[in-house]
Amino acid sequence: MIPIEIRDRPSPNFGSRGEPAHIDMLVLHYTGMASAEAAIERLCDPDAKVSAHYVIEENGAIWRLVPETLRASHAGLSCWEGKTDLNAVSLGIEIVNPGHEWGYRPFPDAQMLSVERLCRTLISRYSIPAHRVVGHSDIAPDRKTDPGELFDWPRLARAGIGIWPRTELPRSGLAVDEARAIGDLAAIGYCVTDNSPTAALRAFQRRFRPARCDGLLDSETVARLSEVRTAVTQARAASRTPTSHVGS
Ligand SMILES: [Zn+2]
Repeated sequence: MIPIEIRDRPSPNFGSRGEPAHIDMLVLHYTGMASAEAAIERLCDPDAKVSAHYVIEENGAIWRLVPETLRASHAGLSCWEGKTDLNAVSLGIEIVNPGHEWGYRPFPDAQMLSVERLCRTLISRYSIPAHRVVGHSDIAPDRKTDPGELFDWPRLARAGIGIWPRTELPRSGLAVDEARAIGDLAAIGYCVTDNSPTAALRAFQRRFRPARCDGLLDSETVARLSEVRTAVTQARAASRTPTSHVGS
């Protein structure tokens, strides 16, 4: 395999991961700024106090801002599988895109290729389980919409990154049961805080049913929740099964 070319652009916005430092999560973002340069400048601005481990430009160029062993400030107030302080255990990748505020657009092929290659490297280096590869909106549904509904999660899943279960048909006539949906969201990893699942549902749709992210519990969303819950349960079980690593 061709080695990935990574350039360094050190950010002062990092800290210690604390002890024990155990990386087992990957958080994908979009930069949500008018240009790549503006985004990188902000991620390196000591006053902004934000950063990420990597930035991937639309032409596929990869920048390292914070070493993987250190904590970057990318997740903010967030929660997944009942745990907060996700910066301590995660790696953050900022994918350049103007985002919903500045002209959201598809992620180019060259960029997605770099996303794939970097994610595969990190997942294998830290044995990150599939259900721990998330979007920022998954872990902060009330605040964030990145990387958004145009992000090609199915493509990443075909490359062995993250979860994207097959869609089963037919999906009509399914009972719409809010309590069950909250249970499914929680089982997948979403933190539903106030008994109103709308924000988490919208984040779920953005990620797994991107054609319509309205936060409404329709029968297609019900079906998708069940498919994703099953896939996550399988991924979680697989990640607990000890495997033998040949040659490493
Ligand atoms: Zn983000």
